[in-house]
Amino acid sequence: MTARTMFDRIWEAHVVAEEEGEILLYVDRALIHEGSSHAFAALKRRGQKVARPHQVFAFTDHYVPTSGRDRGIAGIAVDEIRNMVIAQHENTKLHGIRLFGFDDPAQGILHIVPPEQGITQPGMLICGADSHTSTHGAFGSIAFGIGASDMTHVLATQATWQRKPKTLRITVDGELGFGVAPKDIILAVIAKIGAAGGVGHAIEYAGSTFRRMSMEGRMTVCNMSIEAGARCGMIAPDDTTFAYLDGRPWAPKRGVEWDAAMALWQSLPSDAGAEFDREVMLDAAQIEPMVTWGVNPEMAGAVGGSVPDPKNAPDERRRSDWAMALDYMGLKAGMALQDIRIDRVFIGSCTNSRIEDIRAAAEVAKRGKAVVPAWVVPGSQTVKRQAEAEGLDRILTTAGFEWRDPGCSLCTAINGDQLKPGERCASTSNRNFRNRQGPGGRTHLVSPAMAAAAAIKGHFADVREILK
Ligand code: SF4
Repeated sequence: MTARTMFDRIWEAHVVAEEEGEILLYVDRALIHEGSSHAFAALKRRGQKVARPHQVFAFTDHYVPTSGRDRGIAGIAVDEIRNMVIAQHENTKLHGIRLFGFDDPAQGILHIVPPEQGITQPGMLICGADSHTSTHGAFGSIAFGIGASDMTHVLATQATWQRKPKTLRITVDGELGFGVAPKDIILAVIAKIGAAGGVGHAIEYAGSTFRRMSMEGRMTVCNMSIEAGARCGMIAPDDTTFAYLDGRPWAPKRGVEWDAAMALWQSLPSDAGAEFDREVMLDAAQIEPMVTWGVNPEMAGAVGGSVPDPKNAPDERRRSDWAMALDYMGLKAGMALQDIRIDRVFIGSCTNSRIEDIRAAAEVAKRGKAVVPAWVVPGSQTVKRQAEAEGLDRILTTAGFEWRDPGCSLCTAINGDQLKPGERCASTSNRNFRNRQGPGGRTHLVSPAMAAAAAIKGHFADVREILK
């Protein structure tokens, strides 16, 4: 029998039909947010219903305010946002969809809540109305973002037309160094293969570094697969995955249901000898805490390094890209990354707002006081409650950080949380594109510990020195 990859195994199990190179795939889970009102409007125009509402989950995250929530939906200051939140409640009620809405005790980001609720499971095919749906691949699922018209199709049929990507295996072996986080691994991967290095591919992350990693760390890594241009990213399910899922509300219950699920889940990993279209390898020991200096996640370096000189770029395209990036970011070639002063800090987003991220930030915050405005935005109410039970909110607020309510917030800046033009932010989010955190805003991507270090120093700093 031919050795198969995990990606092929899951893909083939979901094929419904094929037409002229396009494949119709069955969708196990669809994830939507407030911005999916267009899909509901399209269904209404066509007189269609949601085909399988119990396989669709909705989240109030992109537009929701991250402060002043005690005033309820009526207290949302911006009419347009308030109306979107109300419309989401009405649409999901009308179609019988489970909404993790404004007042829900499990409200949070659509890539944070499904894993913590056990909605995300190995072997599934998951579509989300946000490109960072790749996060869910951390459980050994095929998960990718789709646009509004594709989501309308999924809601109406529970299936999606896609082209099959090639496979790319990224192997990282070895122990991570002290102070080095999963965020640093994925930034190092993207710096190596480039922001377009994964285009047309499904990535499988393999190797001892990922096998030792927690589910939170695996989610951070898979989340940013899209920043390398990949269609999705995935990690084989193992005992860490199964232990994480056991007992979660939507996970299979112990007994016959659990045993059947385990039989499937354990059959998923790529066979020994399975062939991938491409292979990339990294040595974990060589990875250091990272800081991005440019306007895409490929433009990144180790914290001990400096801003590169466009004159030294490997080709003409990058020479020009780097020069334009330095111009936008207001940086000089050759300056030490640690000399870059910041105006504010954002610890949050579906990349880094889980409990381990908040713990890592608090561990650094214990060692100083924030000298710039620093926000911590937990990814869900569940994370928020757990952090508060552990006293992390008090550590952070005592150190001058601001503890807010869950949502996407400054990751995408569409809820009103945004940078001022020219403001420079150390951010744990996933995109440092121009204007991403507000018009003219300058974003540097870092891990939660590195963001907290920047907050207490006012400039980028090597978190290993602070934690020593
Ligand atoms: S935190 Fe950012 S990337 Fe994640 S779902 Fe929200 S807007 Fe999308």
